Amino acid sequence: MTSVATLGSHCALQVLKGAKDEGLKTLLVCEKKRERLYRRFSFIDELILVNSFSEVLDQKCQSILEQNNAVIIPHGTLIAQMSSEQIESIKTPVFGNKWILRWESDRDMKEKLMREARLPVPTPVSNPKDIDNLVIVKRQGAAGGKGYFMASNEEDYIQKRKQLISDGVLSPDESLYIQEYAAGVLAYLQFFYSPLKEELEFFGVDQRHESDIEGLARIPSEQQLKSKKVPSFNVIGNSPLVLRESLLDEVYTMGDNFVEASKRLVAPGMNGPFCIEGVYDENARFTSFEFSARIVAGTNIYMDGSPYYSLLYNEQMSMGKRIAREIKLADGANQLDKITT
Ligand code: AMP
Repeated sequence: MTSVATLGSHCALQVLKGAKDEGLKTLLVCEKKRERLYRRFSFIDELILVNSFSEVLDQKCQSILEQNNAVIIPHGTLIAQMSSEQIESIKTPVFGNKWILRWESDRDMKEKLMREARLPVPTPVSNPKDIDNLVIVKRQGAAGGKGYFMASNEEDYIQKRKQLISDGVLSPDESLYIQEYAAGVLAYLQFFYSPLKEELEFFGVDQRHESDIEGLARIPSEQQLKSKKVPSFNVIGNSPLVLRESLLDEVYTMGDNFVEASKRLVAPGMNGPFCIEGVYDENARFTSFEFSARIVAGTNIYMDGSPYYSLLYNEQMSMGKRIAREIKLADGANQLDKITT
């Protein structure tokens, strides 16, 4: 029987609960320091205890996964803690497309794929000298917004970068990515593409709550001006959002375009869950600053099903359960190779 495995963090609970509900065996690669937490949940059949997640590459871990016919569900922690080379060398089948995860981690590749998908991206600024408007400065990889900062000109950029280096948040040789700041209502659009049905499903929308940029908005401007601290965009949690119905058609078009662009640039394409992240401006025009080519933690808010999935399924369907359903269908039809890499 096929089983479902993931790393103990991010959205592991949702993923494994969904797999259990679909009748699949569940395995968790768990850091010893988190064992107590994950033992609380009876839907986790087996814990593979490790000192660090990179041990998932070790023979010992790989053979347990192999014996269990496991499919690994990749999530943000896998990307944050392992290099693209490491992820690509995983022998266990990975749900979705492990090759596209490199396109998520590398800023230039990311921008290329977003442009191919005709997503409206903010203008990148290649040289700090050219900053003449408000910009956001980002780190490489899935840093979760930690160490990001805003700047309005070159001097501002240099001063904040220096401060973050002396605070130990950034390293002096770190390459940073600068892009125009897009103001508006944040919306993180969550999708699932099924290569079995060749169909795109829109799952839901969330908003991220980021510290301490949000905290800054809670203090009067007088104190904000006196603050010397460089605010960060560290994700703390997520909350749900539903969109004006008139925006949905465009949402599906963006998802379809992304799936098609991925097929052209990185075979076998964008299979499984993904997320297009951005903001709506005052004219309800979307600017997309980011994508995630795998399940996002924002789907955790819909463990009992999302508003949009209740339109597609007559049952409670989380993203974790949707993934497990796809695995079950593929397994039954001897098509696991179609949904894994
Ligand atoms: P990211 O790592 O690109 O998802 O960015 C982390 C957070 O920074 C996002 O959730 C947004 O709050 C913010 N952000 C990133 N890029 C932009 C942008 N171009 N304009 C406005 N906010 C942004």
